[in-house]
Amino acid sequence: MRVKKGRFPGVYVFIDEDGSEKIATKNLVPGQRVYGERVVKFEGEEYRIWNPSRSKLAAAILNGLENFPIRPGSTVLYLGIASGTTASHVSDVVGWSGKVFGVEFSPRVLRELVPLVEERRNIVPILGDATKPEGYRALVPKVDVIFEDVAQPTQAKILMDNAKVYLKNGGYGMISVKSRSIDVTKEPKEVFEEVEEELSTYFEVVERLSLEPYEKDHALFVVRKP
Ligand code: SAM
Repeated sequence: MRVKKGRFPGVYVFIDEDGSEKIATKNLVPGQRVYGERVVKFEGEEYRIWNPSRSKLAAAILNGLENFPIRPGSTVLYLGIASGTTASHVSDVVGWSGKVFGVEFSPRVLRELVPLVEERRNIVPILGDATKPEGYRALVPKVDVIFEDVAQPTQAKILMDNAKVYLKNGGYGMISVKSRSIDVTKEPKEVFEEVEEELSTYFEVVERLSLEPYEKDHALFVVRKP
């Protein structure tokens, strides 16, 4: 059993006793588990195994994502943070020198995030509606990356509207798109083509990746604000 550096800074590869490989992040708050994930210790450090069935970002990395703009020190606006499963790994990656501003519109869901952020102080929870980016202007600065996972029909527009206000020029957006949230009657491929076209009216589309088999009919897009 050992841990080695992965393809991206802050993302590690855990090699299990049976030789199988998993991805992991170094636990920013040793002793804290967030969603029942496996925790392993190696050479005095604690790592949290990043589960691709619970996190679309982990699924994308395991599916060969080529562009992962979230790095140690990054500031990230996270739209649809929910109870923080993926955001906790993003928080591990950006570390104490980075920050994750997490927007969630369900007060009940956001309450579940409170115990997590009490110790994980690089996450700033925000009760807000991602379709109304002006609503959290007082709390969010210009960021390096916007990550969006809200499963709404207007996902591409939400990303563009937030990028206009918060994303630095040259910054990146990452968006998980569930085709059935947009149009159940169309083939996923057709929906993804339309989303790509919409995104390319404002961004440079850098990458599009299927999240199968971890997430049915989902794709992840990486875009760049020129
Ligand atoms: N990204 C999370 C993870 O991997 O841990 C899961 C996110 S879940 C698929 C989608 C979340 O987006 C839900 O918690 C939902 O309440 C939230 N959401 C949906 N529409 C939203 C909006 N307009 N503004 C803010 N949050 C929204």
